[in-house]
Amino acid sequence: MSAVLNEAASLPKLDFIDLKTQYRALKPSVDARIQKVLDHGQYIMGPEVVELEQQLAAYVGARHCITCASGTEALLISLMALGIGPGDEVITSPFTFVATAEMIVLAGAKPVYVDIDPTTCLIDAALIEAKITSRTKAIMPVSLYGQVCDMASINALAARHGNIAVIEDAAQSFGASYWGGGGSRRKSCNLSTIGCTSFFPSKPLGCYGDGGAMFTNDDALAKIMREVRTHGQERRYYHTRIGVGGRMDTIQCAIVLAKMERFEWEVQQRLALGQIYRQKLGAAELPVSLVQVQADRDSVFAQFTVVVENRAAVQKRMQELGVPTAVHYPISLNRQPAYRDDASAAETVHSHWAGERVMSLPFSPDLTEAQMDRVVAALRDAVTLAA
Ligand SMILES: *Cc1c(COP(=O)(O)O)cnc(C)c1O
Repeated sequence: MSAVLNEAASLPKLDFIDLKTQYRALKPSVDARIQKVLDHGQYIMGPEVVELEQQLAAYVGARHCITCASGTEALLISLMALGIGPGDEVITSPFTFVATAEMIVLAGAKPVYVDIDPTTCLIDAALIEAKITSRTKAIMPVSLYGQVCDMASINALAARHGNIAVIEDAAQSFGASYWGGGGSRRKSCNLSTIGCTSFFPSKPLGCYGDGGAMFTNDDALAKIMREVRTHGQERRYYHTRIGVGGRMDTIQCAIVLAKMERFEWEVQQRLALGQIYRQKLGAAELPVSLVQVQADRDSVFAQFTVVVENRAAVQKRMQELGVPTAVHYPISLNRQPAYRDDASAAETVHSHWAGERVMSLPFSPDLTEAQMDRVVAALRDAVTLAA
């Protein structure tokens, strides 16, 4: 064993995502923000809700932000607001967290899966058109691992076919930028009809519980989404449509407001640390490939993911060395018991391939270079042993 590794084996286990350092840095603001809510007592739809919606809308450059109970709820509310239901089809990737397809099915529509590009693990935009039918009502690209999809092509395709909405599942990409398609630099969540994000604690912008938000530049759609979020009511106890109990708590909004004080620094850290990881892994010359980030966008690395063979053995060895890893995601949705679609599963071969090989490494804005060296050393040891 190398010296680095000897040392690594005796160190305490690394955090997969380090939220404690972030809390220590933000403690005065977080605590004061929470205390303020406890003092005013407006736990539901308090002033922090509107303050956060205004701040987030300005951050991504969208006209409207509507906070909601979770990223999952954001997807459901978006589909409901667009009137998508039985008989409709929504095109998405099978290589994603289950909520993406789950909400399409819950809305009554049918998920139609398109394979990923194996180099980015994002939906392959060139394969979408063949799946568009008269029933296609939306395309739901997933900004997996923190990098947005080929949004210029997807938006152009949706426009060409008329009346197809594009809902970005941006649960993992809040803060990411895109400058593709000759446009100016724009933020994830402001790239299509609706952008949906999540404030689950481990996401790039997290709260300390569940939370989410929807973004749009369409005034009419924003009004409908607000109504759907709160039981379909246009005003108190006057219900114009079917909705959900989908509000985000005031305390969670207060926590996100405190986190926004440091968020732009964190985004810059994520970009810089992603580069350093890339260099270190490249220099180590391991039989491991990286999920590629395209030239016309960046990634906030909700996950920093590599592709390895003999993954189970590699993970086991890294765990022994105190370096946790995770798999996002092991089974394509069209191969899951609840979503099984054999014809589609036979086509989405890259999703299946990636599901068996992807492995995410510890990553957070507070990761140190010494910690990265420890991860790379453990990975080297693990792939050598597993070869
Ligand atoms: C986390 C996640 C969601 C769901 O967000 P929650 O806030 O946990 O409900 C949806 N889609 C993707 C791609 C996610 O990563």
